[in-house]
Amino acid sequence: MYVVQIASEVAPVAKIGGLADVMMGLSRELKWKGIRVDTVIPKYDCLDTHGLSLECVQKGIRSFFDGEWHDHSLWRGRWSDASSGDLELTFLESHNPKRFFDRGCIYGCHDDIDRFLSFSRAVLQWLMGQETAPDVIHIHDWETAAIAFLIRAEPFRTYFEKTRTVLTIHNIAYQGRCQTMDLDRVGVSGSWYDSPKRLQDDFGSDLNLLKGGIVFSDYVTTVSPTYATEVLTPEGGKGLHLTLNQYSDKFCGILNGIDYSYWNPEIDSHIPFRYSERSKAQSPEDKLLVSEKAKNKETLRKALGLKADSTKPLVVSISRLVQQKGVELIRYAILNAHKKGMQYIVLGTAPDPAIQWEFVTLAHTYAHDPHVRILLQQEESTAHRLYAASDIFLMPSLFEPCGLTQLIALKYGSIPIVRSTGGLCDTVFDVDYSKKPFAETNGFVFNNPDVVGLDSALDRALAFWRQDGEAWQSLMLQAMQYDFSWNTPANHYLNIYQKILSRNSYRYETDSTTEYSERATQ
Ligand code: ADP
Repeated sequence: MYVVQIASEVAPVAKIGGLADVMMGLSRELKWKGIRVDTVIPKYDCLDTHGLSLECVQKGIRSFFDGEWHDHSLWRGRWSDASSGDLELTFLESHNPKRFFDRGCIYGCHDDIDRFLSFSRAVLQWLMGQETAPDVIHIHDWETAAIAFLIRAEPFRTYFEKTRTVLTIHNIAYQGRCQTMDLDRVGVSGSWYDSPKRLQDDFGSDLNLLKGGIVFSDYVTTVSPTYATEVLTPEGGKGLHLTLNQYSDKFCGILNGIDYSYWNPEIDSHIPFRYSERSKAQSPEDKLLVSEKAKNKETLRKALGLKADSTKPLVVSISRLVQQKGVELIRYAILNAHKKGMQYIVLGTAPDPAIQWEFVTLAHTYAHDPHVRILLQQEESTAHRLYAASDIFLMPSLFEPCGLTQLIALKYGSIPIVRSTGGLCDTVFDVDYSKKPFAETNGFVFNNPDVVGLDSALDRALAFWRQDGEAWQSLMLQAMQYDFSWNTPANHYLNIYQKILSRNSYRYETDSTTEYSERATQ
């Protein structure tokens, strides 16, 4: 089977959030299972090239955009890391004079719709020049959702006749709303798609690329079973619940995994002291787990100028600082860290200038505080060191499709405190209130996204940490022993690929009745 994964991010070379981790982890797991996989993203000028070797393997790939044909080049990359192995990647470089991917960023440009529509079409142009068409094209989020319908239009339709598409929705809040003329630019007839049964937004007059992905893909997944039920409701669907309900027979939730050859304290080259849950059995004095984790904490405290205070647990949040992640509750935890007797470090970036300003102010206020640090940066290595050093991981999300940070925290023995929403419900089981026996619990959960809710879980966790060191160590081990690897989710995806390959393509319509731009189908 030949599968092509296409998205806007892949870890660790082009990463903003969890989508990047999924692209890396799922691609590698499928490869390990013997599948031929190409993992394709745009060739950004801001790629993190550390550990990446790149080679241009093809030039002169022509793709249509806004009335012109533009050249693209194909680059193959190999990212290598001594501990976690190799990752093979494909980058498509655009030579459009608008320099779509030479902006020093992945998202946030005024013409993001143009950037990712042109990329979507160009990837198909490249694939169409290959000897064999992919069996499955797996697209992710609105940025590449257009591939689901472009592939059924000219000039691609015949070549990709047997190819099936899967769309994974990582966060339904981002949908790619656009106008008919945006589709015209990519060589299809925008007005044909402007229909409620195609791309027209269910509650507005715009077109909606994510809706197009849902309507035209052969299968649609989202990233956890609980989120899959939430997005079918008016509150959770963010305007797409009607469409998702209409297509519920080709929709399901598959819990994300994490790549344990990358996120693993036993082999992690970013952390000063390695440790593992298996060490308890190997060393009766539990040296590797407890003492090595403690050394990571002390090293980090020193590096950040925090006080070495053994009476205070180290609480950490690593997050995009956006409303979804409960920024008000993160702010509350910062302001109350002293009162609660904890140390608190926040690592995050805020795309919204108002939130950025608020956190810059907080970062200044706490710049020399002995117990609080706010790091406003995107820094992969720092993230690894924070997971390894922390006792508790705070994640007060208002909604959370899956959440990878709590899965990573579990693996590093950092006990998550989360709100019960989306994938957090499927992965964190409360010490006191889940129906599971203590030996199967792994964290603390609260229901209401307000300070009373947060206090209820945070105070319980802090009291547990202070009162019972032995039981806390057991909890750490339980957390680390949970298996959230990609093995099971990759099998689910393989089942879906096989299922859609064995049946006719979904009952999509094609716009054969419309006039394509002649020039776009040369
Ligand atoms: P989302 O995709 O909604 O941002 P996830 O929990 O699914 O959230 O994934 C977040 C990923 O991004 C994790 O790998 C996390 O470690 C990483 N991350 C988030 N913020 C930062 C940051 N400021 N620096 C480094 N890594 C970060």
